[in-house]
Amino acid sequence: MTDYRTLRVALLGAGAVGSQVADLLLRHGDELADRAGAKLELAGIAVRNLDAKRDVDLPHDLFTTDAETLIVGSDIVIELMGGIEPARTQVLHAIASGADVVTANKALLATHGSEVFEAADQVGAEVYYEAAAAGAIPIIRPLRDSLAGDRVVRIMGIVNGTTNYILDRMDTEGADFADVLAQAQALGYAEADPTADVEGYDAAQKAAILASLAFHTTVPLDAVHREGITSVDAAMIESARHAGYVIKLLAVCERLAAENGGTESISVRVYPALVDRAHPLASVHGANNAVFVQAEAAGDLMFYGAGAGGVQTASAVLGDVVSAARRHIAGGVGVGESTRANLPAVPIGHVITRYQITLEVDDRPGVLATVAGILSEGRVSIATVEQTVIEASADAADPVAATGSSTGAGSARLVIGTHKAREQDLSETVERLAASGVVERVVSVLRVEGN
Ligand code: NAP
Repeated sequence: MTDYRTLRVALLGAGAVGSQVADLLLRHGDELADRAGAKLELAGIAVRNLDAKRDVDLPHDLFTTDAETLIVGSDIVIELMGGIEPARTQVLHAIASGADVVTANKALLATHGSEVFEAADQVGAEVYYEAAAAGAIPIIRPLRDSLAGDRVVRIMGIVNGTTNYILDRMDTEGADFADVLAQAQALGYAEADPTADVEGYDAAQKAAILASLAFHTTVPLDAVHREGITSVDAAMIESARHAGYVIKLLAVCERLAAENGGTESISVRVYPALVDRAHPLASVHGANNAVFVQAEAAGDLMFYGAGAGGVQTASAVLGDVVSAARRHIAGGVGVGESTRANLPAVPIGHVITRYQITLEVDDRPGVLATVAGILSEGRVSIATVEQTVIEASADAADPVAATGSSTGAGSARLVIGTHKAREQDLSETVERLAASGVVERVVSVLRVEGN
């Protein structure tokens, strides 16, 4: 066997991911040594509770509650504790001690990424985080490395498995949000407190990380517009299906062309959106993730796979550990990234996309013309309209064509598809529609993404 130099690896955390990382490091040590060009010695595992039951059997003498001492003298520190503190302090401590850091901690990077990367820059250390967005899917390296010579135009990502699982079951079974969420919790797909997932916080953290890499710009979390999926109901899913769409929680990172002699800008947003059923993202089922990248020269690329799971995520973590080890042996800088483009992130009002507006209106002559007039005044151009009588008077037909020819005195549902419009114009127009006297209820306004 080759006589490799030994690198000391400290692992912080032995939960769902950390325990699998430790297990793989111990079981595949010889193979990993051949790939890394160094023997990876697991020096210890820092946890909170020494006696907690682990997902896999690991040698008890590796465990410690003293992360700080474990870090000192380590070449590579793997942070898999999660959360901001003490992860932030320990990561900064590892960097200051001369170690490279591997982390899967999206919360830490989305909120304190600049601090961590600057600290690493100052001492020539590297921070690897392939597992921090979309779990096992290789997406950080492609954005940071493979596409470094291209210009990314847009990323559309399904980056939260829990919400994709919920929306997919709602779509395939016609089930309600609350029922599917309860089942997802029972099956372990959703946390007891599902807020981070269903309100889009987790996806927003990943969007900030992906946009920062794609656009070579530091994107703070508060620049990410965020909406969750709690308002999506069975009727919206059915209406989307009827129109040839599926609803997905998307993280959209977009480069916007310069306007009026200004500079290019970016938009980063997370919301439930309508995706054409023919789009590759529509076929992402269950708890899977996918990231669809459009680049100027490369064209369309899609990265697909498990966005979470202990052993799946451990694969991405270990890939980073091997990279870090190689760099330690060879010296020099790592894959590197730049934030020098420094593009401004615009508020949601500047975004231009297509929309589907669903309204309940009085079912009487002239209403459609009034609605069309308000949309036109608001610079929102109609692409399609479908009208369905929902509370028919005795002589009303159901459904009726979108000609405004119904004479019933009940209510009708209007589903309006728009051409591209500016979000600001659209939201002001929807407010005017709501106040117009002919609209009984704005049922939903959904963006259409994907082409
Ligand atoms: P987890 O199951 O909650 O495990 C966390 C581990 O960190 C536990 O072993 C815990 O120790 C330890 N820990 C927490 N606070 C600590 C402290 N103050 N001092 C020492 N140890 C401490 O978390 P996970 O699911 O493995 O996730 C780890 C990281 O990976 C997170 O950043 C997460 O966002 C990211 N990630 C997870 C997945 C996934 O599928 N789970 C996917 C992608 C990314 P005890 O066991 O003693 O309590």
